[in-house]
Amino acid sequence: MAKMKQPMQVTSEETQRFLGRDAQRMNILAGRIVAETIKTTLGPRGMDKMLVDSLGDVVITNDGATILDEMDIAHPAAKMIVEVAKTQDDEVGDGTTTAVVLTGELLKNAEVLLDQNVHPTIIASGYKLAAEEAEKILNSMATKVDPDNDKILRQAAETAMTGKGAEKAKDTLVALAVKAVRQVAVNDNGKYFVDTENIKVEKKEGGSVEDSALIQGIIIDKEKVHPGMPRKIKNAKIALLDSAMEVHKTETDAEIRITSPDQMQAFIEQEEKTLKDMVENIAKTGANVLFCQKGIDDLAQHYLAKKGIFAVRRAKKSDMERLSKATGAKVVTKIEDLSPEDLGYAGVVEEKKVGKDKMTFVEECKNPKAVSLLLRGGTEHFVDSVERALEDAIGVVATIIKDRTVVAGGGAAEIELSKKLLDYASKVGGREQLAIKAFADALEIIPRTLAENAGIDPIDILVKLRSTHERDGKNTGFDVFDGESKDMMKKGVVEPLRIKSQAVKSSSEAAIMILRIDDVIAASELGKGAGGPPTGPEGMGPEGY
Ligand code: ADP
Ligand code: MG
Repeated sequence: MAKMKQPMQVTSEETQRFLGRDAQRMNILAGRIVAETIKTTLGPRGMDKMLVDSLGDVVITNDGATILDEMDIAHPAAKMIVEVAKTQDDEVGDGTTTAVVLTGELLKNAEVLLDQNVHPTIIASGYKLAAEEAEKILNSMATKVDPDNDKILRQAAETAMTGKGAEKAKDTLVALAVKAVRQVAVNDNGKYFVDTENIKVEKKEGGSVEDSALIQGIIIDKEKVHPGMPRKIKNAKIALLDSAMEVHKTETDAEIRITSPDQMQAFIEQEEKTLKDMVENIAKTGANVLFCQKGIDDLAQHYLAKKGIFAVRRAKKSDMERLSKATGAKVVTKIEDLSPEDLGYAGVVEEKKVGKDKMTFVEECKNPKAVSLLLRGGTEHFVDSVERALEDAIGVVATIIKDRTVVAGGGAAEIELSKKLLDYASKVGGREQLAIKAFADALEIIPRTLAENAGIDPIDILVKLRSTHERDGKNTGFDVFDGESKDMMKKGVVEPLRIKSQAVKSSSEAAIMILRIDDVIAASELGKGAGGPPTGPEGMGPEGY
């Protein structure tokens, strides 16, 4: 008697499982959808996206990292692509769309090989070889630049900002970005170190972009706590306090028994004296400005005002750190410990009205290592998009000052890399060469997409670009504004080398990781909200299902 064979279920009923090709197809498709979504934003002539969140707030942008951030992506493989953009943003501050589009194309080309029965392990190892070689090629083709050369920094800043809605005031913004990075750059034995966190962009709608300015110090989006305090202090001696100026409430439930009115009076007086002593302690050091990270009791505010001290309460921790870097003040926790040496200096501290709000300007610092950039402009959405463009430019300038290497934009670097990788593929031989070739081909997606987004025929451009590049050399790319092949370095379209090397690194890592997955076991429905196994935009349809 033959026994009935029953499939054995070791996981719960809700568990979803995709195996082998199904898993690969699904993950590749998810990754490609993400890339496809932001592809139309690449380059100076890319389009914008309008993103509306669940509260109805609107963001209009063509910044890859911002779009992916707002998109609320749920599919696990798609999330890996979002990571690529995040890493790019953290490491360089620009090139997020490039990195994601490249990942999408690596996945797409891998799928073609999978369809030809090339094993995913072979593709993964070919991609790995290609990525390693690409790193070497990129390093050898980069152009060394002098970090003290403002011209190249300005060109790179401009390249990063082109097409980001800030055209009108590009010159102002480019100059601001370069100046800000230079101000916070720390020269350590001829090597520059830049932490862009030390540049704070403070935006206020109203006025025009040309009113934007770099402050030799920090702007705090707060007003002084008490109307009786001076509005402006010259030769400011600044104290930074990260604890509250309040009479401490006991942590445990303490009970204070008061039996007579005298005792009540004494108790209140004691509290008043504590606050008064705090203010005395501050005044004694010679401080005439106080930034407190926590609260300041009403009575303490009154005493501070009487002493003529300008005080701000509940300053952000990050602002306290910047204030310390800009003024040289030390952040102190115990008021009793505050000494004159802990105070920082600024030429002026002043409360000013910007738009409809009051802000505190800490200006004329001596060689501040943290600065604020006040960004102005018509409407909120406009200021937001200019801010994103400016942040890209700041990231790019900082990267060049640190690394001292640039490559030509407009597809030049990608075409050069692609060409060299093809040579390499034939040297490697075997089945891996198919994958290396697929990698080389994938790089062409950048010039192709730049052309597509500019309304130029991508096939024509690529044919022309390959031949002019061969003839005129590695910096030959094409200008999206006239469709002509030219030396992009001469044209001033330059990018930090690291934009490209980081994009190649993260995108290949993500593609390889996705390719190596042959089993997806999900405890609940995959990509809930994003709709289970993804369905692509038109043309990418769910062929595999
Ligand atoms: P990402 O998020 O990758 O930085 P962008 O939308 O900023 O994407 O576009 C960057 C691309 O645009 C780069 O490949 C850069 O070389 C290219 N680019 C910038 N200016 C020009 C130009 N004038 N002509 C052609 N390409 C340009
Ligand atoms: Mg960019």
